[in-house]
Amino acid sequence: MKFSNKQIDRYSRQIILKKIGTIGQKKLLKSSVLIVGAGGLGSPIAIYLAASGIGKIGIIDKDNVEISNLTRQIIFSTNDIKKQKSSIAISKLKKINPDIKLQSFSKKLTIKNINKIAKNFDLIVDGSDNFRTRFLINDYCLKSKKILVSGAISKFDGQVYTFNFLKKKSPCLRCIIPNSPMDLDIDNCEYEGVLGTLGGIIGSIQANEVVKEILKIGETLCGYILIIDGLKLTFRKVKLNKRSGCYCNEKKK
Ligand SMILES: [Zn+2]
Repeated sequence: MKFSNKQIDRYSRQIILKKIGTIGQKKLLKSSVLIVGAGGLGSPIAIYLAASGIGKIGIIDKDNVEISNLTRQIIFSTNDIKKQKSSIAISKLKKINPDIKLQSFSKKLTIKNINKIAKNFDLIVDGSDNFRTRFLINDYCLKSKKILVSGAISKFDGQVYTFNFLKKKSPCLRCIIPNSPMDLDIDNCEYEGVLGTLGGIIGSIQANEVVKEILKIGETLCGYILIIDGLKLTFRKVKLNKRSGCYCNEKKK
């Protein structure tokens, strides 16, 4: 692919970086990322990935915008209330970067549709708000050997972790949480509350990790969990090991 003059101008601040250059920017433009959830995490993830020139972005979310979303779901405005999240998000991203392909899926991600939806994307970013979806994405990425960049927020805290299932040593979500929580559909933000800015912090780190994984630059977060305490402002990177007996070990044998 050849850059147009507009593309060179648009991406100039990234192209100038030695670790990116024109080759790296082309890699970003040729990559495809599926964002699960257009919420507190999905909003900054989508905005930064679209702006940085990820060539194809898909967003899946079945919900409509509610007034209580607006403290953290910064891709939406007050006049978007009651409108469908994924399609509104896509229309906002189109304005940010008309140079990229965008696809919205206004539905719930299920075991029945995940393969059909996710197969056309290189990398999956999880910004979902419940364990059922988290386990579903984990198992799909493990089976399809895809990179998964996941994040979670609750109260004043957040976590980010990456699983690169192209690597045999990569742990999975079931290594950390062996037994499914009692209520798989629980939404922590709704029941426990969350400070809006945590979505920006964690979502931006997830977008940063996605770009790094695509470009293969820096140190991967795979094999670690980043735990952020927003009140004390501490960032802890904790090693994650594969759990013997986990389903991800059995699969690889
Ligand atoms: Zn595992």
